[in-house]
Amino acid sequence: MESLLEPTPDLAWVLAAEGFDPLREAIYESRFSISNGLLGLRAGRPVGRGERWVVPQRAYLAGLFDIAGPEHPIPALVPAPGWHQIRIMLPDGPLVHHPAEAISHRTILDMRRGVLLTGCRLIHNPAIAVRVRTLQLLSLSERAIGAQVIELKIEDGEIDVAVEASFEGLGRGLKSERLEQDLGVWRTKYSGKRVAMAAGLSSQIDGSEIAPTMSGPFMWSWHWKTRPGQIVCVAGLVAVARGDTQDADPGRVAREKLGVARQVGWRNVVEEHEATWSDWWRTSDIEVGGDPAAEQALRFAVYHLTSAANPTDERVSIGARGLTGDDYHGHVFWDTEIYLLPFYIFTWPEAARALLMYRFRTIDGARQKAAQMGWRGAMYAWESADTGAEATPEQVIGPDGQIIDILCGKQEQHITADIAYAVWQYWQATEDVDFLLEAGAEILLETGRFWSSRAQPEGDGYCHIRGVIGPDEYHEHIDDNAYTNVMARWNIRRALEVAAVLRERWPDRWARLSHGLGLDDAELGRWRTVAETMVTGWNAQTGLFEQFAGFFGLEEIDLAGYAGRSVPMDVVLGRERTQRSKVIKQADVVALLGLLPEEFPGDSERANFRYYEPRCSHGSSLSGAMHGLVAARLGDSDLALQYFQHAVAIDLADNHTAIAGGLHMAALGGTWLTAVFGFAGLSLQSDGIAFNPKLPASWRTLKFGIKWRGRRLRIGIDSAEQLFHANLEAGDAMAVFLNDRRQEVRCDQAIVCPLT
Ligand code: BGC
Ligand code: BGC
Repeated sequence: MESLLEPTPDLAWVLAAEGFDPLREAIYESRFSISNGLLGLRAGRPVGRGERWVVPQRAYLAGLFDIAGPEHPIPALVPAPGWHQIRIMLPDGPLVHHPAEAISHRTILDMRRGVLLTGCRLIHNPAIAVRVRTLQLLSLSERAIGAQVIELKIEDGEIDVAVEASFEGLGRGLKSERLEQDLGVWRTKYSGKRVAMAAGLSSQIDGSEIAPTMSGPFMWSWHWKTRPGQIVCVAGLVAVARGDTQDADPGRVAREKLGVARQVGWRNVVEEHEATWSDWWRTSDIEVGGDPAAEQALRFAVYHLTSAANPTDERVSIGARGLTGDDYHGHVFWDTEIYLLPFYIFTWPEAARALLMYRFRTIDGARQKAAQMGWRGAMYAWESADTGAEATPEQVIGPDGQIIDILCGKQEQHITADIAYAVWQYWQATEDVDFLLEAGAEILLETGRFWSSRAQPEGDGYCHIRGVIGPDEYHEHIDDNAYTNVMARWNIRRALEVAAVLRERWPDRWARLSHGLGLDDAELGRWRTVAETMVTGWNAQTGLFEQFAGFFGLEEIDLAGYAGRSVPMDVVLGRERTQRSKVIKQADVVALLGLLPEEFPGDSERANFRYYEPRCSHGSSLSGAMHGLVAARLGDSDLALQYFQHAVAIDLADNHTAIAGGLHMAALGGTWLTAVFGFAGLSLQSDGIAFNPKLPASWRTLKFGIKWRGRRLRIGIDSAEQLFHANLEAGDAMAVFLNDRRQEVRCDQAIVCPLT
């Protein structure tokens, strides 16, 4: 028990918050969240403060979407009932947590074990003093299961006490269908989804079981008389299940899962969960010698990225805030494909596949969106929930408190190419033929078809894409956004390539698919023409892409003059002036550089970065990491490190209140991307993986794991010794390129060679 409730001793694996600061509670609730891709729990306090029951805890169940009502049909993730809070009842009322007395309050995220630990000391003078320690987890080995252990150590006092456990906020936003002692089933109001939760709790005093008094459905209480030195342990297991259809019986599933977990016993549930995490870290851990803060930040990113995905559910994807907060209502953006997928593709392909299958399972929503807007093929929603229908709100309250119209749902169309990009990257990195034939090819063809209808030939002989928003959302309704057009052209070309690959290698599948989609050679020929004549904004004289038509003529604003501002530039300047200026919200041409460097000939990579970087105001959490990745590739390691630290600070620095609404999953994915694609310089080759390392001066070593086409590889870059290590831990021999030099790597015959 002692060791269970204490964190891993190595501080590089733990994140701790000491004391109690009411201003930072919501930040800590997000940062210390636990999740397993199916369930998510914010790190609320197990014993509340004030006279109230407790601050309600937010819990989430992936995919549990509902609309607010027919007049406001935007689906939002409905919070699920929380389960971890207890109340300690004394004869004259609850024992509460008074902030001023919280000298010993600790919250600890033990990333190595995947558990949340808390500790505090509660006093009610002169009756009782008790030390409370808790452990919570959401199992990574059986995602439906959550476990919690609460230990009360009576330090002083001999009085009658009752511990009450209840499920706070039961049914908030949900209709109750069934409520029994150990089982609840609720239904969303409009979407017809159901959630079931089964729970079992037990309690021991000094090792002997005591029977609870059941005081109502989902209410347990234990009564006894305290004495100094006594140790009371309350352990609980919950099982949660979602039912998406009328005939699903989530109540039965939750009860069965709980039954199995109870048989296994909570101690073994904890053990299996920790063993799964430990296996996981063996492949995905990333170590930085010489910069412990960077190493901890990367572990924090890997911890939350691992927690966010669920390889067994193809009906859900990862929202912009994962399952850690309410912001963006659980909606899925391009963040997933561009900022998160590389991590999953290269460390956990099963999770990557499920995330891409979510796009396949929602492709009908994308087809409908294209048809409604007068185009062909599949046009993915800018914000997507459970069906793939467009879920972007039409108005929101802006950062300056004004209501603003949101055009992204109609105009931010690049997401369609971003999804195609991720599909192709997954295919290249895994050669997962089943996925390509079942889903990937269809996504590529239908998105290629969309762009071929979307880009229109004009009198100048070129195809244009007018009326869009690029990644830089400060400029709306623009024409020929370089990012959108070049990604669209790339998407069409990959669609043509996949058609050729299928025709050659899997002709039967090609025959069925092309027939099913009504695709003929004449149409493919038209796609080719669109790709060949697409306007891109490329200027051969200057070597610059113009971000969109007319960008170069906009007002120049020197952002250096606004250093130290505390609000975004569109608030400083006002929306209209921002739109008329060259102030950019986030990586746009720079994002194109990050994704498709091969589209930038000669030294134009550097020229474009030098031009756009000073004009970017980083008004989005996605921006810093992409700049870091590109700066690292260009060899500007100091600047890259600054951007890496900027991305890390978004969720780890205490001054960023925006994390109260949840963690910025894209910034976390971007942190990993900057380290592995930026500093290690990873890129995919047709027959292997290439590295072009350029570590920051303070990083002596960088070590990480990578998966590629069924192999598991561990890479070490040692800039102190100027050595490169590659160890193939599983799979057939493969090619690894170091600074363009090809090396053959065989299983368990580590190679070590000079870095330069
Ligand atoms: C984001 C958009 C989003 C909109 C509505 C804005 O803050 O920048 O990408 O579509 O909110 O959710
Ligand atoms: C960014 C988008 C992003 C969204 C969700 C917005 O502020 O501009 O690029 O997809 O947030 O993270």
